[in-house]
Amino acid sequence: MAGNLFRQELSNLRPYVPGKPIEEVQREYGIDEVVKLASNENPLGPSPKAVEAIKRELEKINLYPDPGSMELRGKLAEKYALEVDNIVVGNGGEQLLQVIAQTFIDPGDEVVTSDTTFTILGIWVEHLGGKNILVPMDGYKQDFKGYIENISERTKLVYVCNPNNPLGNIMTRDEVDYLVEKLPEDIVLIFDEAYYDYARVNPAYPESIEILKGRPNTIILRTFSKSLGIAGVRVGYVLTSKEIAKEMSKVKGTFNVNRLAQAAALGALEDQEHMKKTVELNYRSLSIMEEAFEALGLEYIKSNANFVFVNVGIDSNLFSQELLKRGIVVKAGSIWRWNTWLRVSTGTEEQTEKFIAALKEILNE
Ligand SMILES: *Cc1c(COP(=O)(O)O)cnc(C)c1O
Repeated sequence: MAGNLFRQELSNLRPYVPGKPIEEVQREYGIDEVVKLASNENPLGPSPKAVEAIKRELEKINLYPDPGSMELRGKLAEKYALEVDNIVVGNGGEQLLQVIAQTFIDPGDEVVTSDTTFTILGIWVEHLGGKNILVPMDGYKQDFKGYIENISERTKLVYVCNPNNPLGNIMTRDEVDYLVEKLPEDIVLIFDEAYYDYARVNPAYPESIEILKGRPNTIILRTFSKSLGIAGVRVGYVLTSKEIAKEMSKVKGTFNVNRLAQAAALGALEDQEHMKKTVELNYRSLSIMEEAFEALGLEYIKSNANFVFVNVGIDSNLFSQELLKRGIVVKAGSIWRWNTWLRVSTGTEEQTEKFIAALKEILNE
């Protein structure tokens, strides 16, 4: 064997930190009732139409799924007035971020993004020997001027998470227009819009499909995991140029989206009612939290996603431990080096109130 058994990049690779699963908290803390506000899941549960569709599909799981997810891509193409060849479906948005890295990154290639953002793409970029150029935040916002200043001959991708995770705020149409105008056309601009359905109610939120139409080297990522409530079966998709979609499809994995996932996605897409209810609940829960933070004098960032980032003024690891003891799971900001901040998903109103009560209790101690 020549040298190291494992791929060189693995030695420094920092894996993604997922929210603690409910079952694990129940086991470790002996608590029955656990409220998980750590992974931005849908507190209303899955769409009943998605569940029905899975039940109908169950009898066919001896058969491989459609490798092209044709029916689902057809429905998405209709929805967005694009063509099927503009769409790639993946095993969650997470897999598509990996596929994006596999499609573009040669060793030494660079990706420009922020030092506080969703880290999945960055992990796969590093895995392939690429380099993440992490531009410091401009306060709470992604610094697009800084992005442009950091473009080099090796830059292949620019990653914009909008709304940004974990901060929850959006980059506005004007800010995005500036980036589009300054960015060389041969660099691929990625908009991660996992929270699109929540953010679109803000009139300043950009319509990225219009950008794609005039700028083929654009990738828009969306998911069925959040507003559509089927995180557990894993479906996401990208909207992009036919040329990029074709290259991505070569490495997406033949049967990457399983049969139950395709069925559930078709069911969930039909259920606009469930999605609407989800978004309405989200903004009610956000209001509950914002009101409480203001009463407590806590700094927070105005969110257009299904979570809020709040400064509790105390070490976030300690604070999230205290919440865990009370059966509430959140994400500690220390993951992004925002050491006194918490990222809290919106729950049902009852779950949100439970979080607020625990927050007050801990702050009073
Ligand atoms: C949740 C999320 C995704 C995708 O999640 P999947 O469950 O893998 O579809 C992508 N980007 C961001 C920013 C997210 O928060």
